[in-house]
Amino acid sequence: MRIAIIGIGGTGSACSRHLARAGHDVLMLEQFTLDHDLGSSFGESRIIRRTYPDLLYTQMMAAAYPLWDELEREAGEQLFVKSGGTYFGRDGHPDIAAVISALKSTNTPYEHLSAREHNARFPGFRLREGESAVFQADSGFLHASACVRAQTRLAVEHGAHLVERCRVEAIEHEGGLTVISERDGKRLEHVVDRIVITAGAWIDRLVPALKPALQVTKQQYAYLRIARNAAHFAPGRFPVWIDAGGVTGGEMYGFPSDSRVEGVKFAAHLEGAPVNPEAMNREVEPAAIEALRQYARERMPDLSGEVAAAKTCLYTNTPDKDFVIGEERGIVHVSGCSGHGFKFTVLLGKIAADLALGHRPAFDLSRFSASRFASA
Ligand SMILES: Cc1cc2nc3c(=O)[nH]c(=O)nc-3n(C[C@H](O)[C@H](O)[C@H](O)COP(=O)(O)OP(=O)(O)OC[C@H]3O[C@@H](n4cnc5c(N)ncnc54)[C@H](O)[C@@H]3O)c2cc1C
Repeated sequence: MRIAIIGIGGTGSACSRHLARAGHDVLMLEQFTLDHDLGSSFGESRIIRRTYPDLLYTQMMAAAYPLWDELEREAGEQLFVKSGGTYFGRDGHPDIAAVISALKSTNTPYEHLSAREHNARFPGFRLREGESAVFQADSGFLHASACVRAQTRLAVEHGAHLVERCRVEAIEHEGGLTVISERDGKRLEHVVDRIVITAGAWIDRLVPALKPALQVTKQQYAYLRIARNAAHFAPGRFPVWIDAGGVTGGEMYGFPSDSRVEGVKFAAHLEGAPVNPEAMNREVEPAAIEALRQYARERMPDLSGEVAAAKTCLYTNTPDKDFVIGEERGIVHVSGCSGHGFKFTVLLGKIAADLALGHRPAFDLSRFSASRFASA
């Protein structure tokens, strides 16, 4: 089949590889250049974990892990750093209890550490008395940009055709499916059998029915320099971590040093300001940096507070933080990853490929249907 994939970020590159490897004629259309920094998948690190306070996502991660391993083998490069990870909060926090319950249901090994045990094991990060952490050894981080590049390279090696700086403007249904795009001021038309739309924060322009359900927000993160005890921040000595209730009242999360960018990266998972990705200020705001410094002073006192790097990125949020996945008349859409989707993209790409081919996906996707917004 001839299949167009619109939007080559984490999900689109994964879907392209799956379809091209299966022998389909794949056309990959990206409005900017590959691995640009204006969407959601650019950068050195995204957390991967089995620790979810939700059984379905825990089960989906059980399916995603082997796919990441397989990608790494096929790509012949390290894409995943298995540093181990913690999910922590005050004793009795409902999310911690839900994480433990989901891990038990899926027979996933874990350790439940008191604050004292945690701090002895990870001296770079301080838990307070009255807090505890779930440690899971399979957690770590994915080199996100490298994943997008590797999947695209493999898709092309399997015969896919990548067209960059090609913005899809419309889809026509008359007498089959035609993708209308614009490149260098010229209108292009591609007639295809199926279309997969993985356009991230821009998806509502091609699937207007999603517009009321999706909100794009500006997210900001920083790498703070290490002042002392650098060895305490290396993968193995320092986990990826999620604070179920940070100083700001929402989740905070972070990484060990990633060996590629100086310092230690962390951020707030709180939704930032709603933005239009076409017209937004992409500068990092001083208030966001100050909130991170304040958090580091308490939790990671060996960081200096000096910013080594800082950047903005986009979340595409649904009201319930669940993804949006669907298929209608030969057109598949996947988006709404709500700030936690990268670890799933290798699986979401496979699910999108299955939907495009008319195969039954391995999961019941009804929870991700866009129709849930209509009924709400
Ligand atoms: C700061 C930050 C931290 C995050 N941390 C984590 C984490 O630790 N763990 C985790 O699992 N997830 C994390 N996420 C979420 C994760 O990165 C995203 O869910 C994921 O990258 C979404 O991928 P995507 O393929 O849907 O979108 P994108 O990667 O944005 O891809 C969409 C692509 O479509 C293209 N496009 C759009 N419209 C068109 C068009 N009309 N024509 C052609 N091309 C088009 C865009 O240019 C873009 O390249 C984080 C996100 C951010 C922003």
